[in-house]
Amino acid sequence: MSRRKSLVLLSGGMDSAVLLAASKHEGHEVYALGINYGQRHWREQMMARKLGYHYDIPFEHISLPVDVLSSPTSSQTNPHVAVPTGHYAADNMKTTVVPNRNMVLISMAISRGIAKGCDEVLYAAHAGDHDVYPDCRPQFVAAMQAAVALCDWSQIELKAPFLSSSKADIVQLGMTLKVPFEITRTCYTDEVIACGKCGTCVERLEAFHLAGYEDPLQYSDREFWKTVVKGQ
Ligand SMILES: [Zn+2]
Repeated sequence: MSRRKSLVLLSGGMDSAVLLAASKHEGHEVYALGINYGQRHWREQMMARKLGYHYDIPFEHISLPVDVLSSPTSSQTNPHVAVPTGHYAADNMKTTVVPNRNMVLISMAISRGIAKGCDEVLYAAHAGDHDVYPDCRPQFVAAMQAAVALCDWSQIELKAPFLSSSKADIVQLGMTLKVPFEITRTCYTDEVIACGKCGTCVERLEAFHLAGYEDPLQYSDREFWKTVVKGQ
């Protein structure tokens, strides 16, 4: 495959970190884009910057006016809505949805990718996201890909290579690629140490367990996920 110029939408979470590593591993010219949209889990952006340093790639960070994705129903952009604890399959996890977030973020990434002369924008939606997040589902990705193909004269593509991968598959790939998971951030809270109790902490700890590895991150509660998973 020829060397491509890739822009990775880098949240600072583990999935996009592995995506970045995979793109680098394939020998592509990689750029990363981090976006501040007023997320409660703002600490992930510090990790995105560290990952940029780690992989020695250009990292661009842009800030969206916080009103764009603010939502009265979202625990991720409204500090008055509590971050739910438990398993992603639970109904209360819907409060972690930021309505239409990915269309906005992908759209911005496509614009930046075109400006940089990139061949592709990569984003790290995975199979575990499908239940809760409409903008991580294959139908959404396909619709965005169709729109991206029509949005400009540039031949830029949107790719979501983890769309049918489980989180455990991503951990496995990341371990193979020696991803520095200790400089990724997954927790939905703004606590200094990851809580271990929110849906995304539970999912991550379960994924490391399923893949057969110890998560190098520090957690306030490293055991909670087991009781939650047992209850499913
Ligand atoms: Zn958490």
